[in-house]
This record gives sequence, structure tokens and C-alpha cells, in this order.
Amino acid sequence: MWPTLSYRCDACRAYTVVQSRLEHPGTCSRCARPLDLRGRSHPVQGTVAGDAIRDSPVPVILVFASKWKEAPAEEHQAVESLAHALSGEVTVLVADVEEDSRSRSVWTAQGKPRAVLLSRGDEIGRGTSYPAEGPVRYVLSRALPRLSTEPARVAA
Ligand SMILES: [Zn+2]
Repeated sequence: MWPTLSYRCDACRAYTVVQSRLEHPGTCSRCARPLDLRGRSHPVQGTVAGDAIRDSPVPVILVFASKWKEAPAEEHQAVESLAHALSGEVTVLVADVEEDSRSRSVWTAQGKPRAVLLSRGDEIGRGTSYPAEGPVRYVLSRALPRLSTEPARVAA
């Protein structure tokens, strides 16, 4: 069963499972700080990235960026658009390979993907460009056929 929606807290890094965005108070289940239920990316490094991938109740997209803080606005926009489109359905993480040697080794060793799609820590897809919603949903539907990849069940 698709585990509804999940949001990562930037403050304490916990995941909060949300049945309905409309009915949820929008606060972290662990530390009660506000969660952004519109969907956004999360910068991660090193072991934090590993924890975030392993702990996520929903699939994860790990985007590899280089000097992310200085990256062109269009690149930030592309990643944030994806995070927004897949809000709660997929956790979007950004690892800066210039700042994080562990990410760099993965990046270099495995054909320099721009992004890797993972479920429960297992890779289910990768791409050499910034990922877009359509291809991500396609890969998810192929890799996880028993799981719904319909858009979030939120009333219009
Ligand atoms: Zn929290």
C-alpha cells in the first residue's frame, strides 16, 4: 500500500506521515515545528543523506549538484518545481558533490548521474539531467507496480 504522504522536517530531520494535507496541522510529528506541505527540496550531506534515504517512508530522489548555492536560478527552479509537483509522494534531496566527498565518490564511480531515484535505499532509476515529474512518475510506476503513483489524494 502506498504510505500516503510524507514530509521531512528540516529542523529535526524526522519524517511525518500525512494522510491528508487539508486535515493535517502542518507540523512535525516529532518537534512540532511547521512543515512545508507544498513540497520543497532538502540539502543533505554525508551520513545525513544516508539517513534521509533510509528513513524516508516514500521514494527518494537524490539530486547531485555542484556548488549548489551558486547554481543558476533555473537549476534551483527545476528542483523546487519537481519537489512541489511530487509533494509528499517523493522526498527530494540535494547533495552538493563539491562539499561532500562521499557524494562525489558515488557521482564519479557510477557514471555521473544527475539524479538517482531510490526506494527503501535501493536504486530504481537514474538520469543524467535534472529530473522532471513525468519521467519520475513513469519510473515509479514501472519499478513499483503495486504502488499507486497517482497524484496525491487531495481534494481540489
Ligand atoms: Zn521536526
